[in-house]
Amino acid sequence: MKRLLNQSELSTMIAKPIADQQATMQLTFPTYPFTPILGWSISRFELFDKCKRQYYYTYYSKYVKDVPSYKMSQLREMTSIPLETGNVVHDVLEAFLKRLQKSDRDIDEERFIGYARDLVKRYFSEKTFIEQYYLYDEHFSLERVYGKVETCLRNFMNSPSYNWIFMAALHDRGNWIIEPTGYGETRLDDLKVYCKMDFLLPVDNCVYILDWKTGKRDEVKHSRQLIGYSAAANALFDIPWNRIFPRIVYLYPGFDEMEIAVSDDDRERFFGQIKDETEAMYAFCSDVEKNVPLQIDAFPMSPSPSLCRQCRYRELCFPQWRQDDAQKKEGPDVQNIPFPQE
Ligand code: SF4
Repeated sequence: MKRLLNQSELSTMIAKPIADQQATMQLTFPTYPFTPILGWSISRFELFDKCKRQYYYTYYSKYVKDVPSYKMSQLREMTSIPLETGNVVHDVLEAFLKRLQKSDRDIDEERFIGYARDLVKRYFSEKTFIEQYYLYDEHFSLERVYGKVETCLRNFMNSPSYNWIFMAALHDRGNWIIEPTGYGETRLDDLKVYCKMDFLLPVDNCVYILDWKTGKRDEVKHSRQLIGYSAAANALFDIPWNRIFPRIVYLYPGFDEMEIAVSDDDRERFFGQIKDETEAMYAFCSDVEKNVPLQIDAFPMSPSPSLCRQCRYRELCFPQWRQDDAQKKEGPDVQNIPFPQE
């Protein structure tokens, strides 16, 4: 049975003194020859489950016929304020950890926060946001974004995880894996799977995997993600399951952590789910090996106000809400968007 670790177990784990630590572990990612077949990931299946049409637009945009390719690229590249905020925090923590790998001089917190503000300014000036494109929040304030990013970073700097990185994990920093490139491809039960980790670090003969979150806690989804990280680390590096400690690190609004002990039943259930979910996605391919989808009509829309509001492709499903000058002048009542009956 899956069990959340309590705070004292977590503290014991994170406070292990350097003196107790022994040999280091070299971690190297295997490479796989390219195959076009689709690969399971939590986010891919989540999208498939929520709205098949959005899934089609996201993963099979080159097959969309009646929309110009520049428009598909424009929509696909849009981001959202929460996504981009998380992106900044991830990139600042990546820079922080890489700097720590080279030098253990004290961090100048104010410079660190200043760097984060510069990154916010840059990222938010370069991208198109769903909230602005669909006129939900044309005048959003960068100050709100600065505030959230700063809170996340200060929560991190005052956290037990931060202390642990300095006390227990720093001695083996040469072997840290920080935001590895690629999509985290691996194989589980011979299936192609993607499991991208934020920060992986060996301590003694164990491996810790940290995943930063700037959004809400979701125990069910995040527990599954942690089991996925354990499975991937086991498959990629041949590390026994009982030496893998994956942890979600929540940075907003306050600091929190979630770590689980993965049982044999959890593992079996997880592998069964991956198989079933992969097969469900295969069923929407006309050629599984080449990953060619069925016709778009086989991917129904599943409209709901909350889902469509966050969807990049909304103007394709609801052309009346396309952003154009006329609409802008009239100022659409975005709170009362007509959706088909659910
Ligand atoms: S707008 Fe709604 S129905 Fe259309 S693809 Fe997006 S989520 Fe699905």
